[in-house]
Amino acid sequence: RRSIGKRKSLRRHSIEPSFNANIKVVIRVRPIGNNDSEENVRSCVKVVNDQILVFDPSEEVDDFYFQGVRQKCRDMTKKAHKDLQFAFDKVFDTHATNEQVFCGSTKDIIGSLLDGYNCSVFVYGATGAGKTFTMLGTRDSPGITFHTMVELYNQMELLKEERKFEIGVSYMEVYNETVKDLLSPSLGQLHVREDPSYGVKVQGLTVQRPADASHLLSLLESGNRNRSQHPTDANAESSRSHAVFQVYIKMTSHPLENGKVNEGSVIKVVKLSMIDLAGSERGSATGFKGSRFAEGANINRSLLSLGNCINALADGLKHIPYRNSKLTRLLKDSLGGNCKTVMIANVSPAVLSYEDTYNTLKYADRAKKIKLRTKKNVVSVDMHVTELAALVEDLRQENAAL
Ligand code: ADP
Ligand code: MG
Repeated sequence: RRSIGKRKSLRRHSIEPSFNANIKVVIRVRPIGNNDSEENVRSCVKVVNDQILVFDPSEEVDDFYFQGVRQKCRDMTKKAHKDLQFAFDKVFDTHATNEQVFCGSTKDIIGSLLDGYNCSVFVYGATGAGKTFTMLGTRDSPGITFHTMVELYNQMELLKEERKFEIGVSYMEVYNETVKDLLSPSLGQLHVREDPSYGVKVQGLTVQRPADASHLLSLLESGNRNRSQHPTDANAESSRSHAVFQVYIKMTSHPLENGKVNEGSVIKVVKLSMIDLAGSERGSATGFKGSRFAEGANINRSLLSLGNCINALADGLKHIPYRNSKLTRLLKDSLGGNCKTVMIANVSPAVLSYEDTYNTLKYADRAKKIKLRTKKNVVSVDMHVTELAALVEDLRQENAAL
């Protein structure tokens, strides 16, 4: 397998402002040592500042070294270090709280949402890297979904004199290319249909209408209880499923006193999608066998399709390959066009996750790089075509390796 990390362009990145960019890519590095096997383990990620990190640094990463194992760690790493520097819109180190991650990632999109853009938030990364912790968090440290919803309601409150808001919520899980309704799990498998007037529609999907923020959050919680649970096993169903939480907002400007729509009213419907993606670890690494192979292949298909769609959109290509997976079909109206995307890539710094972390950083870097190229309007057409061909080849090989 050819490594795109070898391409010179990946070794150094200048930091570019990303105002108005449609894709914002942030990295979150989880604390090391959250299970027994990580005790005294070396870190392979060094956070330089809030935008730059180094993967596999040759310098020691003091933060994570245990005094007693310093010498042993040095001995373990006689081979050359990759020393790859990456820059992102934001890099959160191991000390970052969920609230800080919220402030640096999804807080800004509420404004875009209320301005009329669909928005999508993806948490990407290998199983155990901290995706669900980031999205949902714990009772003591609620995740970014909680903070984002609170912010949404705060901003709606400020606008309530000029607009009327109606909120709908749905929550589903995509597993092995089938869709399950997390708000009504007894419905069984739901079908995705193309509707001439609505576009893609999940037939029979429950859309609840919460009365207020706390009602909405209780819907989120009850949906979470219906998710497949086995968070740390890379072979568990939960690590292979995508959880898609969606909030629809119908905004009517200048409603009449009695709440009726007047003639001059403008009605907009926008959607915020928050997606806790399946684990990005490679199928081969998790030892898929027999029918399990198909499941792994499907999940990777969805992730690869997602990457392809983001790339194609950022490149301004005419054809966006939404149809290649369930997940991208579902998100057709939430990716590209009038849409803002935030990708939060979660990584473990433990050297045990070396390959996964490296692959996640490359995936995230691709999304970011292509965004920058779009902004600059492609200087050399040749370079553009070559890089795209290389990207397609990488993805093809990843697919073939499954
Ligand atoms: P994923 O959803 O990517 O498989 P999880 O979010 O379930 O991973 O995280 C794996 C474990 O690590 C969980 O026990 C989680 O609580 C813990 N964890 C992840 N990120 C953090 C963090 N930033 N701070 C503290 N604990 C974390
Ligand atoms: Mg998870």
